[in-house]
Amino acid sequence: MPDPLQVLEDAQAVLKGHFLLASGLHSDTYVQKFRIFQHPRVAEDLARRLAAQWSGTPIDTVAAPAVGAIVFGHEMARALGTRSVFLERKDGVFATRVGMELAKGEKVLCAEDVVTTGGSVLEMAKAVEAAGAEVVGFAALLDRTGGKNPFAQRFEALIRISPPQYPAEACPLCKAGLALTKPGTKQGAKA
Ligand SMILES: [Zn+2]
Repeated sequence: MPDPLQVLEDAQAVLKGHFLLASGLHSDTYVQKFRIFQHPRVAEDLARRLAAQWSGTPIDTVAAPAVGAIVFGHEMARALGTRSVFLERKDGVFATRVGMELAKGEKVLCAEDVVTTGGSVLEMAKAVEAAGAEVVGFAALLDRTGGKNPFAQRFEALIRISPPQYPAEACPLCKAGLALTKPGTKQGAKA
């Protein structure tokens, strides 16, 4: 299988234009992760490669924030041979779901498809810890942080890209009068 970034490009998942990211920043690059996640064999292969970076780390469960990262979290759990759960917002706050509880001391890897600021998955990690489980680290398919680790624990990503990102008021694409695209839903646009 080719280089992971090439896999994204082959799936036409890397879009060029003028995008409003879920973080609120503007960028000329957006990764449409569902171009990948609609192909289970591709998602499985990418997750297996990222899971290899966690070999030797005890992990009981992979937890992912709903909705966008559920597929990715599930594939990570498959690759690691662990349980897979997702947490979703209830009244705006992440909470574990009935039937997918976390046990005290359970070692949890938090999975997120795309990390820009890490906001959503950090919020989810708080809920994981509130349940008494232990966050052992964070794993992302795509790291857009530009080399920053926004987490207190270990952070591994399969693909790292650093396209320019601008606050709206300093965006040269806005200044050039290019129409702004807001891709996907709030959950779907975690680029
Ligand atoms: Zn802009």
